[in-house]
Amino acid sequence: MIKLKKIQQALKSISNTAKILSERGWAEANAGNISFNVSDTIGGEFETSIIITSSGSRMREIAESPEKYCGVLTFLSGEKGYQISKFGEDEFIPTSEYLSHIAIHRYLVNEGRPEKAIIHSHPDELIAAMHSEELDTEKNINAVFKTMHSEFDMLIPDKVGFLPFTEPGSKELAEKTLKKLDDHKIVLWKDHGCISIGNSLDLALDNIEIVNKISKIYLLQK
Ligand SMILES: [Zn+2]
Repeated sequence: MIKLKKIQQALKSISNTAKILSERGWAEANAGNISFNVSDTIGGEFETSIIITSSGSRMREIAESPEKYCGVLTFLSGEKGYQISKFGEDEFIPTSEYLSHIAIHRYLVNEGRPEKAIIHSHPDELIAAMHSEELDTEKNINAVFKTMHSEFDMLIPDKVGFLPFTEPGSKELAEKTLKKLDDHKIVLWKDHGCISIGNSLDLALDNIEIVNKISKIYLLQK
């Protein structure tokens, strides 16, 4: 049975997240994308359904009209392929990063993990900090971040994952990101941005806020 109130709550949460990403400038033009697992609300027992933002949509537009710029992808956890549903009359094409989103949700469900939310964004200071030669490996990034913020270990207990530049929207990026999520809740993509997961969109956004704040401190003290 479709639980409309829960769908509305999920869309409201996506709208709030989109507004923050837009206001911070962490998703310029049509950059960034969001998805949220709503399997407990839509779909059958063996299916996974996610609400996901559309291709080409701006975060400021998603914040205003989430039902217009989001749709639903439904897929069987162990198999390829998916079905698209939409909320309104307008055409809906999922974000170009949908391969990463589907792969991650499939993985989280198959592993019995509690995370339901995924956010991909382009935080300025984070991208700038990763241009530093000092921050060229996952080990170095975590070591430097620890010295920048006394609560790094507490705030990001699983540390950050890091991937060298990989073609945006590619299967390779999806597969490499997936491997990193075994051990991390936020993965930094060099020259691009990051992807963060959480039990809620607020928690996924927290990871991005914390890591971008630490990156900003790093740049300020250089
Ligand atoms: Zn991107």
